[in-house]
Amino acid sequence: MKPTRTLPAQAVALSCATTSQAAANDTATYNPCLSCGACCAHFRVSFYCGEIAGEAGGTVPPELVTQVGPLRACMQGTEYGGKRCVALRGELGQSGIHCAIYALRPSPCREFSPWLEHGEPNPDCQRVRKAIGLPALPPLPNDDGETPTRTPPRRGDIAA
Ligand code: SF4
Ligand code: SF4
Repeated sequence: MKPTRTLPAQAVALSCATTSQAAANDTATYNPCLSCGACCAHFRVSFYCGEIAGEAGGTVPPELVTQVGPLRACMQGTEYGGKRCVALRGELGQSGIHCAIYALRPSPCREFSPWLEHGEPNPDCQRVRKAIGLPALPPLPNDDGETPTRTPPRRGDIAA
């Protein structure tokens, strides 16, 4: 199956790149996306056409998208998965990689995060990081300073 980014919790890369690069051992400000970009070069980044800049009030530059259905578009380069988004700049896995349309990026890119709600690493993020040779991310500490001890069961973990 081709990789897609259609799940609500999935969005792209560099989606959390809101802070300047910080020391890797500072979990409060560390942003792994700023030296990764793997998800921007793996998933099909598709979204509702209303997100395209124009009369509907969207933001995504129309010259960077491909129409893939009557109401769907995707970022150029990601149509079939496994290739870089046209807006990705820099070398995968290297410091300085970034999104050229960060403030204008579509919703999948805004929703995808290295960590899930309770601080456990996003398995889809981990998988694509591993594919480009980057290490797994640790869980984020909770508000009480403790790291999550459990992760939600995945489909393969649940007996039929
Ligand atoms: S794969 Fe994960 S760490 Fe890498 S850019 Fe995407 S969200 Fe960030
Ligand atoms: S628009 Fe930006 S954040 Fe979204 S896939 Fe492309 S480079 Fe990544």
